[in-house]
Amino acid sequence: MHMMVRLALVVVSGVLIAVLLLTNVSGQTAGPAPGEGLSESYRGSQSGNLEYQKVPPIKIFDNLYYVGPGSVSVWLISTSDGLILIDTAQEPYVDHVIDSVEQAGFDPADIKYILITQGHLDHFGGAGKIQALSDARVATLEEDWMLIEEAYLSPARPGRPLGIPVKRDMVLQEGDTVTLGTTSLSVYKLPGHTPGSPSFEFTVYDDGTPYSAFIFGGPGQRNGVEGGTQFLSSLRRIKAEFGDIEAPIHVHSYLRTYPYDSGGTVFEPAAMLAERKTGDPHPFVDNAQWRRWLDTAEAGTIKYIEDARAGVPVR
Ligand SMILES: [Zn+2]
Repeated sequence: MHMMVRLALVVVSGVLIAVLLLTNVSGQTAGPAPGEGLSESYRGSQSGNLEYQKVPPIKIFDNLYYVGPGSVSVWLISTSDGLILIDTAQEPYVDHVIDSVEQAGFDPADIKYILITQGHLDHFGGAGKIQALSDARVATLEEDWMLIEEAYLSPARPGRPLGIPVKRDMVLQEGDTVTLGTTSLSVYKLPGHTPGSPSFEFTVYDDGTPYSAFIFGGPGQRNGVEGGTQFLSSLRRIKAEFGDIEAPIHVHSYLRTYPYDSGGTVFEPAAMLAERKTGDPHPFVDNAQWRRWLDTAEAGTIKYIEDARAGVPVR
């Protein structure tokens, strides 16, 4: 029925409209553009395709699930005493996140903590709605709470609704530990993408085998010489303190500033995980990729700072 209405529109409105409608009507007809990777497509050619973005939840480790839309990660950590959500996506995807938590086999009301990696709307925009249904504590660093508060003071951009506002709740600090049941996350401040960018170290389990996991809250520099310089020192600190991490977990399926040399950080390794045979390594346990990424990001950031100093326009 829908399709007939839309086909009638095609006749009236012409070919270009037809293509746009078909892309929006059905995610199945859409896909990566030529030369574009799958994860890349969520932030690239399909970034505005709502249905395409609604990917099913993925169990990555015993205690870690991907419950986001395609473009921005939302990670669910299951513990012995409830759930921890890392980031929330933004409208119009928050109901999808909530549905994904349920589809993964959990009750969204059991979310006890919502940890926000950066005060950018694509990461915190669902926090108010999810807090309202779960009564979870919402936590981020002081610097990122300030960004969140500023976002509600400035008008929303068209197509980027602010959603239900989240009020300042729990203020994290470098060195804090967030504990729920037998699960603990260590909090680090690694600025450069935002002035805070809390990052989290925790343990994931693959059929009971533990691996050290790390989420870098802001994996791409912003804000010219100042942000670039902060980011460079965050990268160097990560190399020194977290270079041995076994399972790097990322806030986007595709890291636009410094892409993985293997493509995306979520959907490509998840496809390998789905095909994994007994005895194969877990595709998210990839320290070599992590080290290569840190080297690439460091070299890129040195160039970014040079460009910013020289007056070359930078993001
Ligand atoms: Zn951001």
